[in-house]
Amino acid sequence: MKIVVVGGGIMGASVAYHLVRAGAEVVVVERDDQGRATSAGAGIICPWIRRERSAHYYALARRAAAYHAELVASLAEDGETEIGYRRVGAMLLSTDPSVLETAEAVVRGRVADAPEIGAISRLEPAEVQELFPAVREDIAALHVSGGARLDGRSLAQALERASARHGAVWRRGDAVLVVAGGRIAGVGVDGATIGADAVVLAAGAWAPDLLKPHGVDLPVVPQRGQIVHLGLPGVDTSAWPVLLPAETDHYLLAFDDSRVVVGATRETGSGFDYRMTAGGQKQVLDEALRVAPGLANATMIETRIGFRPMSPTGDPLLGKVAGIDGLFVGNGLGPSGLTLGPYAARLLAQYVTTGTPSPLITPFQF
Ligand SMILES: Cc1cc2nc3c(=O)[nH]c(=O)nc-3n(C[C@H](O)[C@H](O)[C@H](O)COP(=O)(O)OP(=O)(O)OC[C@H]3O[C@@H](n4cnc5c(N)ncnc54)[C@H](O)[C@@H]3O)c2cc1C
Repeated sequence: MKIVVVGGGIMGASVAYHLVRAGAEVVVVERDDQGRATSAGAGIICPWIRRERSAHYYALARRAAAYHAELVASLAEDGETEIGYRRVGAMLLSTDPSVLETAEAVVRGRVADAPEIGAISRLEPAEVQELFPAVREDIAALHVSGGARLDGRSLAQALERASARHGAVWRRGDAVLVVAGGRIAGVGVDGATIGADAVVLAAGAWAPDLLKPHGVDLPVVPQRGQIVHLGLPGVDTSAWPVLLPAETDHYLLAFDDSRVVVGATRETGSGFDYRMTAGGQKQVLDEALRVAPGLANATMIETRIGFRPMSPTGDPLLGKVAGIDGLFVGNGLGPSGLTLGPYAARLLAQYVTTGTPSPLITPFQF
């Protein structure tokens, strides 16, 4: 079976990896757009602490979070170990004990089905500061030891190399869909058609442009996220946990190279406006320094900008495109695509090769 994947972000790279390992002939076409969400994503894997939007969503998200350990092992067998993955733990932060109490009840109710949550504990402000020294001195936390982080850019590169090693062909170019008689015939690149039995459209926030000429309206829009990388030269930040302040969507996390990442804006209506703005920088830095004033003297390394592919409900879109046989969509990963992507892609790859969707993705059919 020959399958073309359009897009090489976390969704496309993961679909390609799973398809090629299942024995399919795979070609990936990737355009390397500025603002690729996967290259800007913070990389937090912790879907258990905050209440999710629906039971269907949480059912997928918790399995997706658990799947990362298996993916890391599988990539290691393929010689790929540099993806920034580490279970550093995560903390929900609040000065209000009742907020932490409510969250603790939610997480404790989930641990039986999600043992990867790990140990659950309440931490006093001094204990929080011990784990993340830049934090201010009056915030307590709910800590889960299974919270993890990874580097989306490195993970996508690792999946690209590993899938290529298994035989996937990666091409750089601008893909268009080729449809004939209500069926996908392949993908056009640079004026030539790559024929295919099936196509997986994993083009993130840009996907609607490919479907529009064929009369299909994919309800996905770009939501800009600005995220700031800070340096703390000489400080070992490798084991610092993920911080999730309870009152906002903002967060802080750290990587091995004395780097703290603080984010992010959620700019609905941004279009593909690839710019770092004064207001965006202020919002992100104000929030970060409110929680962690110890970062005030950190070095500004860079700001990354990514366009999250957002569906109207915030749910992913995973399944067949009605009216075009052989065309599948993996999209709408929104703010949690580095968590959901690899596992959702695995299920989508199974759907493509077997013709039967997992019950975990049927609620998200497009
Ligand atoms: C600031 C920020 C922080 C985030 N933090 C987290 C987090 O902590 N945890 C988490 O789980 N998720 C996080 N996310 C979400 C996650 O990054 C996204 O949901 C995910 O990366 C989306 O992946 P994707 O493959 O669908 O899209 P993308 O990564 O955008 O990839 C789409 C690809 O398709 C290509 N493409 C488009 N059109 C064409 C074409 N015609 N031909 C060829 N190629 C094409 C593009 O060039 C692009 O490379 C964050 C996102 C942002 C922006």
